[in-house]
Amino acid sequence: MSLERTAFDNTYARLPRRFYARITPDRVPAPDLLAWNDELALDLGVQLTCDDDEALAQIFSGNRIPAGAEPIALAYAGHQFGHFVPQLGDGRAALLGEVIDCGEQRRDVQLKGSGQTPFSRNGDGKSWLGPVIREYLISEAMHHLGVPTTRALAAVATGEIVYRESALPGAVFTRVASSHIRVGTFQYFASRGDRSGLKSLADYAITRHYPEAAEEEKPLRALFRKVMDRQAALVAHWMDIGFIHGVMNTDNTSISGETIDYGPCAFMDEFRFDKVFSSIDHTGRYAYDRQATIAQWNLARFAECLLLLDDDQSAYEEELDRFSAHFHSYYTARLRRKLGLTIEQQDDADLLRGWLGYLQREELDYTVSFRRLGARLGEKGPPEFGSFEHRWKQRIESQPEGVEEIRRTMDSVNPLYIPRNHQVERAIAGAVSGDMSTFHELLSALKQPFREKPGMAHYAAPPLPEQRVTRTFCGT
Ligand code: AMP
Ligand code: MG
Repeated sequence: MSLERTAFDNTYARLPRRFYARITPDRVPAPDLLAWNDELALDLGVQLTCDDDEALAQIFSGNRIPAGAEPIALAYAGHQFGHFVPQLGDGRAALLGEVIDCGEQRRDVQLKGSGQTPFSRNGDGKSWLGPVIREYLISEAMHHLGVPTTRALAAVATGEIVYRESALPGAVFTRVASSHIRVGTFQYFASRGDRSGLKSLADYAITRHYPEAAEEEKPLRALFRKVMDRQAALVAHWMDIGFIHGVMNTDNTSISGETIDYGPCAFMDEFRFDKVFSSIDHTGRYAYDRQATIAQWNLARFAECLLLLDDDQSAYEEELDRFSAHFHSYYTARLRRKLGLTIEQQDDADLLRGWLGYLQREELDYTVSFRRLGARLGEKGPPEFGSFEHRWKQRIESQPEGVEEIRRTMDSVNPLYIPRNHQVERAIAGAVSGDMSTFHELLSALKQPFREKPGMAHYAAPPLPEQRVTRTFCGT
């Protein structure tokens, strides 16, 4: 089967015309396939071998539109850093269409950086290679860490120069998502007082993502509850692995509960509760430890939209009030597992706080420290983690499982390999100079993040002082 014969089954393009604009991706001069995700392609039922690199480059640069694709740019609005923008929309993206994957799941296939759309405002609709490589590596890392996320199918260099602060090589990224419906999509219709559009969108979102909600007495409230639950679980998972999204605007909040829009996101090296990387986040609005609060704020904006169709404010307030407890139960369950605690105890929260406080005070690497802590179970000698280690070991010894078993469990949730900023930057620098070897090597480490691999120690190591990256950029 080739992509040509992959049956697209486009439902979003059947929604009312004001939901999107039909577009044609730009032609690019010299498409060159830099990366192709074979495993994902198989999942999608898109079976193209490496012999077809040229065909893939043509399709995933936007030069050739496969049969059945209907490129559209989606309309949406959103709160950016707390300020409402009534019209954002896909300014540099083209949804080619939807495919049904091998697990019977509907997935969007979208080109990013394929040229201007009616939503581009002053942007060129293009992307340079840097953010393409970044999103590829980080979204795939997230997937292999078990975090719900959009995926990376392809990266294609265009042979075109795009102008940012300087002239840079252009590229197109192919993103696969369970949908591109955002809180901001609901806001687009709500802010226009378009109740009929809002109703169509809500029905569509329920059918596509939460069909069981349709069976409930109040389907919209059920939809809200389910979206809220997935956001609570998602942010807990981010915090588990030291991930900072960086731009948790409502247009970057997916209704499906997937992580979407890898802009100035980053994984922490040394732990800090209030860590911020994004160069545009001047107030720390989207700092590491504010992510749950912000998710709840975004959900409040979602509730405001649904209220136009289901006018019971106190019901939505009640739901929202549950978010925090909900998030905390996901988060503590995750952290307890990372520390090998199998029996819940009164002082767990205190133990967790003690550990994180210790990491912050000592400026220790988040990822390495969890992994080292597990290794301490089989080791003698002076403690590596101060008085915390003694207290923690006592707890572990009071549990019925053997230390080997506990260590194995810890190793299965505490990764060795994460896409550290300095390595991602190295992969980008390589790609810009035409060398994809760092990209591929790093990607292979990230595909099995919990398993130690020979020759890969440098990908597990924190940056040296001169390698530290302290700022990340949206940089599209
Ligand atoms: P994001 O940073 O991906 O959340 O994008 C915010 C908004 O800016 C969206 O409406 C994007 O489509 C738009 N945008 C970002 N980069 C570009 C670009 N190069 N050209 C046109 N629109 C863009
Ligand atoms: Mg966005």
